[in-house]
Amino acid sequence: MTEPITTVKCVVWDLDNTLWNGTLLEGDDVAIDDRVHETIVGLDSRGILQAVASKNDHGPAWQRLEALGVAEYFVQAKIGWGPKSASVREIADELKFAHHTIAFVDDQPAERAEVAYHLPEVRCYPAESIPELLTLPEYTPAAVTVDSRRRRQMYQANVRRQAEQESFDGPSEEFLRSLELVMEISRATPGDLSRMEELTLRTSQMNATGVHYSDADLRALLDDPRHEVLAVTMSDRFGSHGAVGVALLETGPAVWHLKLLATSCRVVSFGAGATVLNWLITEAAAAGAHLVADFRPTARNRIMEVAYRFAGFADEHCACLAGLPAPESADTQRLHITPAPRPAPATLRLTAVRLATA
Ligand SMILES: [Zn+2]
Repeated sequence: MTEPITTVKCVVWDLDNTLWNGTLLEGDDVAIDDRVHETIVGLDSRGILQAVASKNDHGPAWQRLEALGVAEYFVQAKIGWGPKSASVREIADELKFAHHTIAFVDDQPAERAEVAYHLPEVRCYPAESIPELLTLPEYTPAAVTVDSRRRRQMYQANVRRQAEQESFDGPSEEFLRSLELVMEISRATPGDLSRMEELTLRTSQMNATGVHYSDADLRALLDDPRHEVLAVTMSDRFGSHGAVGVALLETGPAVWHLKLLATSCRVVSFGAGATVLNWLITEAAAAGAHLVADFRPTARNRIMEVAYRFAGFADEHCACLAGLPAPESADTQRLHITPAPRPAPATLRLTAVRLATA
């Protein structure tokens, strides 16, 4: 899928005479215009993150954002006396966003020119353009899903989670338990597939099979009785991780064929891939079927090959392999396991659809 226009992923706001009317340090009773407020709320609901780059004293400026009831919308605030370009660069670095996905709004032509000079890929807008931002194509994502609507909350939850992890004194398994992780595996709906497509477009992804299936391919299989399209979501006590994985499975009486397994790199450290594999193995065991996974090595999925091997998949010969169609690609390996039930995951609570019951 191609995106003709790169969508802005973060808008960086100046404060004085841009976000609010007036100059805080001159004692103005600054206020936010209704059109500006609508723009802030609208960008947020489209999953576009927002940040502040302002020449002000940090304490009073942030307190004013809180008093105006908008502080929660900003995931970063660089308020100080350094150059704006340095602030915008730091925001992009901390969000891990490419410069061409960042927009900068400032009423001062000199500030826009300074940012444009040092960060030529950042898109700069004058304050007068704020009322029309939501009508521009670069602020209009192709699809707005449940995950994009809460992207800012997911980002803020992750900041709190990472801060806790850094201060956590103990084994990592104990930290994982303290998160109270919950994974849900369910039959995918069309809405889930939009979330998965969004995930693949926005983040690098651990494609465990290395075999690509388009959104349209998966959609066409939603109603196919031989195929299971599965959506994986996760949450913990800090909030939702959103959609984190997708699996495509063709079931049969003798063998289940895992054609696609992809999980978000965001949840690798939580053992998400291994949990899904162990669950599939247990389900296949209950159905009395062997399990075969397509695996095509790529530059980026080595860690998922490890997860397969660790779960017990091997390059072994079995009569069930003869019943499968030939792989689409010559370098696709078929990893096989004769399933036996696995213990429930130790560090998360799993809620999953039952596949084995006919
Ligand atoms: Zn077999």
